Amino acid sequence: MNFWNRAAKATKSAADKASHILEINRLKSKKYIEEKSIKEFTQKIGDYYVAQMDRGLEIPGELNDDYQKIIECRYRIHALQVNIEQLKKQNPSSQIRCTFCGAFNCAEEKFCAQCGNQLEPERDI
Ligand SMILES: [Zn+2]
Repeated sequence: MNFWNRAAKATKSAADKASHILEINRLKSKKYIEEKSIKEFTQKIGDYYVAQMDRGLEIPGELNDDYQKIIECRYRIHALQVNIEQLKKQNPSSQIRCTFCGAFNCAEEKFCAQCGNQLEPERDI
């Protein structure tokens, strides 16, 4: 095989390799999309069963422990939220008081979460 034949063959195999990699990546991304769909639907099914359990409906016994974990997480989330609200109240500089209803809102908010009144940024005088 002469130089030009070898060079042509090398070029072709490099091109084949590149197109293989492209094809593999294309298939991988399709696979990823399908796996993502499964996760979304699995999540939906999970949410459905959690809602059932919240309503006190009978669930397979092996899910009880996991459901208890969810309940515990909800308690912790609630406690954290209370903590966040307390800290927000203690730091009035990051708060805007609604001129209509008097509720405190985050300084970044444009409208009152309580009454919907437009919030006016406080001016330094
Ligand atoms: Zn308000």
